[in-house]
Amino acid sequence: MGSDQIQAVSSSHEVLRSVLAAPGVKGKMVTSSSENGLTNLIQSIISKKQEQKDPFYVLDLGVVFSLVEKWNRSLPNVRPFYAVKCNPEPALLGALAALGTGFDCASRAEIEAVLSLGVSPDRIIFANPCKAESHIKYAAGVGVNLTTFDSQDEIEKIRKWHPTCSLLLRLKAPDDSGARCPLGAKYGALPEEVTPLLQACHAAGIAVAGISFHVGSGASHSRAYHGAIAAAKAAFETAVELGMPRMSILNIGGGFTMGSNFNDAAVTIEEALESYFSNEPGLTIISEPGRFFAESAFTLAVNIIGKRVRGNLREYWINDGIYGSMNCLLYDHATVTAMPLDPTGRGVKTYLSTVFGPTCDALDTVLTGHQLPELQVNDWLVFPNMGAYTTSAGSNFNGFNTSAIAIHLACSNPS
Ligand SMILES: *Cc1c(COP(=O)(O)O)cnc(C)c1O
Repeated sequence: MGSDQIQAVSSSHEVLRSVLAAPGVKGKMVTSSSENGLTNLIQSIISKKQEQKDPFYVLDLGVVFSLVEKWNRSLPNVRPFYAVKCNPEPALLGALAALGTGFDCASRAEIEAVLSLGVSPDRIIFANPCKAESHIKYAAGVGVNLTTFDSQDEIEKIRKWHPTCSLLLRLKAPDDSGARCPLGAKYGALPEEVTPLLQACHAAGIAVAGISFHVGSGASHSRAYHGAIAAAKAAFETAVELGMPRMSILNIGGGFTMGSNFNDAAVTIEEALESYFSNEPGLTIISEPGRFFAESAFTLAVNIIGKRVRGNLREYWINDGIYGSMNCLLYDHATVTAMPLDPTGRGVKTYLSTVFGPTCDALDTVLTGHQLPELQVNDWLVFPNMGAYTTSAGSNFNGFNTSAIAIHLACSNPS
């Protein structure tokens, strides 16, 4: 190892230590796991639970650490503000706080959750373009002084309840067609609305610090970021033409996914920033990734509570479903995968299988046409990549309470 590498390793150990000491993490048991460790870890949790067969999550803080490192390497000039709505688990929030991110909160309760971890209010953006007056008053009281807007009525509410707040004008992204969940039908100023909205802020004496956009959650093509950054630049210039103070914040929102899509997005963003914003001295660039930091950090283990055999078809009932963690199938247009915890060797015969959730609604169907080996009641299924828009939007329909699902903390060696 060269001395640079040794330094990198020892500083990453220090950072990991700060994650383990973070509010939300400290005081909870964190199991360190290594290669192939997740399966072993899930097995050891299950053996300790004995008769207790409730579903549970494993949150791997080592994955969170690696993702933040990856972000910082790929987009070193773009500070992430984690979108809390994606998964508000306190251990995740605390780990991200220790790793230096800011937070995108959309409500009073989300701001409270972040502040309660000791995060200072200047690390929070109230990134909801349409806020209830009571929530605006709360933000003013605790010193959250940056928010987004896209309407005249929002300006009026801010003027009344939080006039020292800085605003980011949320633009409708020019092209969110490639996103799994486009947001443009609900949020973002249209091009022709930019001038009147900026003028209204000017008239109200409210500072417009910059521009924000969101290319849609689960963005699939990186050109969406290019078009949106170009539109943001045009809005920066409009402010100058209107004789307003120079804007200084560009917020490129969320939409980031794992894998090669992220690398494409990072390259496109860096290029677009170079083309459009290299002549903006003192610019602060921020972002609001949710899915990117949460999705792959959480693994869900569920128990098979029922089984029915119909010819070659195997039907299983598990103890989490569409009204719980798997609401992502409906709301987030997600796909999920299930693996048996104990794959009984390779080459094992598989059956066309259906996996149902526990509630008495036929809609509560998690997987159809899925190949699984023959499983029995009390066996476990493992769902990887279940951290994004899962528990955060679950209900307690039929008495199956999503928020009661336990979360075990693990820390793999960061890759
Ligand atoms: C939901 C949301 C995010 C997070 O989006 P991801 O696609 O999960 O990265 C960021 N900003 C705002 C304003 C959002 O509403």
